[in-house]
Formats: sequence, structure tokens, C-alpha cells
Amino acid sequence: MPGITIDGNNYEAAEGTTLMEVARREGLPISSVCYSDHLQSYGSCRLCVVQVEGQRALSAACTTVVREGMVVETGTPEVRRIRRTLLELYLSENAGQYRPGGSAHAELNDLATEYEASPLRFQGERHTVRQATVDNTGPYFSFDSSLCILCARCVRACDEVQGQNVLHLEGRGFSTRVVADPGTFDASACVTCGACVKECPTGALSDKRVLEQSQRPLPAHETPDRTVRTTCAYCGVGCQFEAQVSGNRIIRMYPVDDSPVNMGHACVKGRYAFDYVRHPDRLTRPLIRQSEKPGDFREGSWDEVVALIASRFTKLLESNGPDAVACISSSRGTNEENYLMQKFTRICLGNNHIDNCARVCHSSTVAGMQEVFGTGAATNSLADIESTRLILAVGCNPTEAHPVVGARIKRAVRRGTKLIVIDPRKIELTRYADVHLQLRPGTNVAVLNGLANVIISEGLADERFIAERTENYDAYRETVAAYTPESVEEISGVPADLLRRAARLYATSGASMAYHGLGVTEHLTGSYGVMALADLAILTGNVGRPGTGINPLRGQNNVQGSCDVGALPNVLTAYQKPSDPDVRARFEAEWRWPVPQQPGWKIPEMWEAALAGKLKAMWIMGYDAAQTEPNTDLVRGALANLDFLVVSDLFLSETALLAHVVLPASGALEKDGTFTNGERRVQRVRRVVDPPGEALSDAEAICEVAAAMGKPMLHRDPSEIMDEIARLTPSLAGISYERLEDGGLQWPVPVTHEVSNHPGTAILHTDRFPRGLARFAPVEYVPPGEEPDERYPLVLITGRVLQHYNAGTMTRRTRLGEVVDRDLLEVHPDDAQLYGLKDHCQARVESRRGSVCLTVRVSERVAPGTAFTSFHFPEAQVNTLLSSSADVITRCPEYKVLAVRATPLRLRYDWRGIK
Ligand code: SF4
Repeated sequence: MPGITIDGNNYEAAEGTTLMEVARREGLPISSVCYSDHLQSYGSCRLCVVQVEGQRALSAACTTVVREGMVVETGTPEVRRIRRTLLELYLSENAGQYRPGGSAHAELNDLATEYEASPLRFQGERHTVRQATVDNTGPYFSFDSSLCILCARCVRACDEVQGQNVLHLEGRGFSTRVVADPGTFDASACVTCGACVKECPTGALSDKRVLEQSQRPLPAHETPDRTVRTTCAYCGVGCQFEAQVSGNRIIRMYPVDDSPVNMGHACVKGRYAFDYVRHPDRLTRPLIRQSEKPGDFREGSWDEVVALIASRFTKLLESNGPDAVACISSSRGTNEENYLMQKFTRICLGNNHIDNCARVCHSSTVAGMQEVFGTGAATNSLADIESTRLILAVGCNPTEAHPVVGARIKRAVRRGTKLIVIDPRKIELTRYADVHLQLRPGTNVAVLNGLANVIISEGLADERFIAERTENYDAYRETVAAYTPESVEEISGVPADLLRRAARLYATSGASMAYHGLGVTEHLTGSYGVMALADLAILTGNVGRPGTGINPLRGQNNVQGSCDVGALPNVLTAYQKPSDPDVRARFEAEWRWPVPQQPGWKIPEMWEAALAGKLKAMWIMGYDAAQTEPNTDLVRGALANLDFLVVSDLFLSETALLAHVVLPASGALEKDGTFTNGERRVQRVRRVVDPPGEALSDAEAICEVAAAMGKPMLHRDPSEIMDEIARLTPSLAGISYERLEDGGLQWPVPVTHEVSNHPGTAILHTDRFPRGLARFAPVEYVPPGEEPDERYPLVLITGRVLQHYNAGTMTRRTRLGEVVDRDLLEVHPDDAQLYGLKDHCQARVESRRGSVCLTVRVSERVAPGTAFTSFHFPEAQVNTLLSSSADVITRCPEYKVLAVRATPLRLRYDWRGIK
């Protein structure tokens, strides 16, 4: 390792590193404008010049590679003189715009102050040639070319960080300028991730919110006065942000550089979509229904509603038995809230009728991975994207649903990582893929078994791994023998040769890692699909090593955590079974109340029980079941049949409208707690602002009601709840708020006699599986619950778009509600012609259950015979189309396959359907 001297101090540096990298690592200040820790060295601004002993000319630190014995001076008078002159040239570029201490991003201004540089020393031709333009067309940031010095950090960030390539340097000489191709941001493919804004050193690219604040005098309370580090409240990637706050107002969410999850990057939702926090629709006081009519509420006090809930629950339990009341918890809530909700259900209601909305997304993942590995969580870390040789993306659309992961995958592909995409649509990642297997919806199991068939028949299986670490291989081999590439082509439409190519790539890369999403789990055979995927990993030895494994992309922010802390009807924390006497004894000793043994109802079973009149009351926390559940008419019927419904939420959702009591809840930016992201990383959520009005956290509401029912839970602080979870849960035993101060911890975090500060576990199953050996789970292809026919000839797939999140409750109440203001029906041009559908026109979409109206988008992203729509807008009520078909094991609904017909709309309609 070369040894070098910088400003009289000795340092070691790895071969190939630059002087700038050493300086940054050691915290030595070397000025620069075009250099960024997130980007490749560019060497254009020359501000980072330093004096290297023995060289006459100055060297740019960002492009000079260290050599043994190098002696460097970074701040000689000559170096400072050159830097000052360079700075004055840059400042002259935007003469008249120079604002000492200007916007929060103006690194250039800070340098000007440091070097006492004059903005007016050089006057030149540029003023007569370059036209200053302002592009204000994006929803969250604007671009003022008069402040631009052409350092190209924004262009490179768009390219290297987000992989979007929207920004370009256009023109030559003095007329060179940065443009969003094809001219403005709104017309471009910009995804508003904000990476360019973060990089801009001059304020040319600025967040509109920050700009507004710096250009007009503001009351003192609106000046950012503190930062609070917290975790994104949207998807399961779990990006970390520093919230910049003034008083009780969020000014900006700034993605932090030292997070191993997002490494300074973010997507539009996490970075910009927080306006919902102060939206006038927020619930601020408890509501009590005052007549038979749903939605007819009066305001009440917390004392009144707590007493009402406690007395109604108690009476219903007394007169109808312990099955009378059930709870649905939320994957949007914190671990602590979910833990309390399941504890409340088990000790206050005396049953296990607790489930959470992970039921409708990744319950199949838990069941499928449990079956093969013995545990149902991601085997590897997001950091492994950097080291893997091949990524297999199955039924997931990361660039829209998990954008920071999507960007990381695109970056990996640019570095040479292979990519296989298995998806019925031409999602963005297919443009980067070596192979795209465009299968018919609902045929995952056949395709995955087909891959295994090729791997075995071509001798590519990892025989040693199979012999040493697995069991039941013979049965598996026998099952997949029937799935020849030709037979799979018949079932799935995937060409046999393409299947062979994908199988060879996956098996021979040396390190293949799989990501999967709801396109695998939300099927009649969702659990089977996950098993087939896990089987493929153990068939090829792609588990237990860096850059391998099975990694579910979790939909909501805390899908992983809500299940880990026991908000499920059959397990307690970390999937410990209440039927196990030792487990029960431990929980009963801690809780001081009996723990029921009989497994409770899953969400679909709750609807059935409500319709049958067996279930009398529910408490639904942060889940808009009436909009997001499949076959919503049935769900609404079930909710309407309850004697008493309590809903906690931020807004008066479709479900809340049916409630008898609505509790105003605080959002993720308004409370303390933890979330667990998709790679098992438990991270702190911190209160950034106060909740509006009388809104309370769900944890506070649960404790109030439990106390009123005579079973108080004495937690003064969320950290105490985490301590209780740790006491009861071996895999979380080493987690405490104190330890989380230094960053997240990936479970398992055990505590042993020898180790009390376990660092967490980045990769699972390195030596053994929880069940000892992994067990091949042979699964057969079963056709989807519903197939197209003459009356309903199209297969409709539902999913997300980048700008919105689930039921859109939060994102619709931000500027993103204007960017994407409706659910669209994507149809292939052939089908558009066949059914007389035109771009931008309305279509009536009918299934065997219902009918909705959607705006048509003709697109080749979908294959002929299939269609796609999102489900973010209550006006569209897309889920009324869905059937009750669900995964055979977990009852995760089959959101991904339904037979529909689409006809151009000639009749009068409103958004709720045809009249
Ligand atoms: Fe938030 Fe997910 Fe976007 Fe990260 S990728 S900022 S966690 S929504």
C-alpha cells in the first residue's frame, strides 16, 4: 500500500486511489466544484489543484493517482492564488447572480467567501451569447441557467446515480448549457429523484420549497432551525433522511450519505412527497358516528371515544365470546405499534385474531421461504447489489415501486452485472436486461421449474451444495423433469431458447441473487412461486454467500417489521408459535396474562366471519381495506355488517367512512419508533414535527384503550416497548434504541454470554439453515384462478406507478396528485385496435365482479392479450374488479391476474362506474 505525505502528515492509500479520495477519507479539505463523493472524477473545474513535490505544474487532486513516497502540499500561496483566479472565472459566468451565503446548495458561494474571490473580475463574451433560461416545469425543483457554471455534476448524477440520462450539456463554447432532454423537465423522462439538485454547487438547480423561502423574507419560525434523522415512510427499502425543520414545519428531506441503504440517494416520494403531513384533510379530533348513516360523524374527545371503544368491545366479548372482536394492524405503523396491537389482541381480546396488511402482499414470501430455508426474510443485504454477478428480477418493478433499489440495479448493470427480468410487462429494467422472459401472467411456477429443468439436464446444478446442505432433492428433480423448455413455452409463452439462455446465465455466473415482488406473491400459487424461486437458489448454491440469495422487495415501509413483531394470527414475535409451551410461558411471564393458543383468523377469514355474523367488531389501524382489498364490494359488505368498527388513520379513508369511531392518528414523521426494512435492518423513526390537533400515535391509542379495558400496558416511551420485544425475542435480543443511535441493525442480533453487542447479520444461512438443511419444495404449476375467455378476453395485471403509494392516501395529497392524477389502463396497440380503444379516451373495464371506468394508454409495455392498471385512486375503484381468488396457503389475494373486457365508453359515466 503506497505511503504518501500530505501537508507534512503521513498516510497510507490503496493502489489506484486518487489524492482526492485520500483527502476525503482523512477529512482534509481540498476545494473543488466538479468533484463529488457520489460521482466518478471529472477533472474539469481544476479547483482541486495541489502541489506535488518534483512536478513543476500543479496537479488536479481528483485525477492524480497516489504513488509511493508522494509529497503533496494542498494550500501553498500559489495553489490558493490559482484557485482564487479559477473561482473568479466561475463567478464571472454568473456575474450579478452571486449571492453571498445564498441558497443552501451554494457551495460556490462558500468557496468565494473562503478565497475572497471577486465575482466581477472577468467580464466576457458569455453575457452576449448565452440566454438565461429558467425551467420551472418540474413539480419540486427548478433550473436557472444563469447560475450554472457547467460543472456537469447534475448531468453526471442523472447518469451515474439515477441512470436516467435526462440531462445533457448542449451546444458549444459560450452557448453550452444544461438541458433536460427534450427541452424541459416536464417533457422529459425525469423521475424527480432530486439527485441533480443535491449535486448542484451553485443553486442553479434548487428545490422550489427552499427557493421560495430564500427569495422572500420569512417569519423567523420558517427558517430551518434543526435537523432530525429518520426513515422514509414509504416503501420497504428504508431510505434514511435528515429532515430539515423550522418550528413545526418540514422544509426539506435530505437523503443522508452515510446510510448503507440509500447512500445519499432517494426517490421522489421519500424526498419530496411530505406535504400530506399538513394537508387540511388530516384528521385532528376523534369522530363518532351519530346515526345509522355511514360517514355521519360528530367530533368527540379522546376520553369519550376510549370509554366507548372499551365498553363496546367488552360487552361484545362478554355476550358473544372471544371471537367477537378482531384487529388488523398496519405495515405502515412502527414495530412498537404493531407489537402493541398484537399484544392488545391477545391479552385484551383473548384471541389471536390479529393480522396485518402484509397479508395482501408478502405473506406468500414468508410461507414460501419458511418452507425451503426455515425463515421467511431476505437472505442478503442491499449492499450485495454491488458484489453480485447476476441479478434475477422476478415479478418486481423496482424502478417504480422501489426506486432506490431500481437505480442501484441499473448502476450494477452498467458495471457489468448481468440481469435477467421475468415479468409479463416490458418494465424499465427490461431495457437493461440480458434476457427478458415475458411470461403470461400467472405462470411463474412453470417458468421457474423450467429454469431448474435446464440447469439439471445440462449438468449445471451445484451437486456439492445439494449433497451437503439440502434434502428432498430427488423429489424435486422428479417434479421439474416434466418442465422441459418446450412444455414451459406452451404454458407461459416464453420461448424455449430464451429460457435455456437464462438458466445457463443464472447457474454459471458465480454469484446470482434474486429479487422478487408482488408479481410472484399475489397469485393463486404465490407461495409456490416463492418456493420455486428458493429451490432454484439451493439448486445452484446461490445462497449463504455475498451477492446471492432470495430477496423480497417489500411493498410498504414496515412489512418486514409488522410480521417480525407478531402481528400475525399464528405466531408471536419472530414467528414463535403460541402453541409452544416454552414460548407461551415466556410471554405469559412478561405480559402477566394468558396467551391464547388457537390460531386466529387471517384477513379474508375475518371478512367471512363478519359476513356470517360471527365477528361483531374490529379495530383497523392504518389500513384502507375498503379500497385496497380485492373484491371490495364483499369487503364493504363485511365492514357494514359489523356492530362496531374502529378505524385509526391519518385521513377519512374509504374504510374510515364506514366506521363507528375514527381515531386521528399521527404519521411516521410525527412519532418515535422503528421500522424494519426489506433487508431485515431495524432503523429508528424519529418525531420530526408534532401531529396536528389531537392526533395521537397508535401506540398511545392502544395503551389508552387497554387501560380502559382493565389491562394496562405501562409503556411510557417507545424505547420501552422495544426493550420488551428484545426480552421476548432471541433474534432481536441485542436491539435497543441506544444501539440504534449509531445506525440500523440487521437481525438476527442475538445476545449470548460472550457477545452482548452483536453487530447484526448481513447474510443469512452462511453455515446452516434454521431448519438444519434447506429442503427442496417441489411445486407444480397450477393455472391462475381466472383465465380469459370470449367474454373477458384480456388478462388485467394491477400494480403501482412511481409517483403513488398504495391507496394514494398520502401521495395524492401532495403535488404528485397533479403529476399523476388518475389510474390508467395500459393496453397493447393490437388490442386497442381490436377493441376500438384510443389513447386518452375512456374505457369501460368489466370483470365478472364489477365495472370501472379508466383512461386508456396505448403502450407496447404490455403484451397483446394483457392489460395493466394501477390502483391508487378511490375514484376508479379498480379493486372492485378483483375476485376473491387467493394464494392456496396464505390467502394473499390474486391481484395480478383477472379476466376483463375493455370497451370504449360511449355512455355517460362517473368515476365510480357506469350509469
Ligand atoms: Fe422512500 Fe422507498 Fe423512495 Fe427510498 S426508495 S425514498 S424508502 S419510497
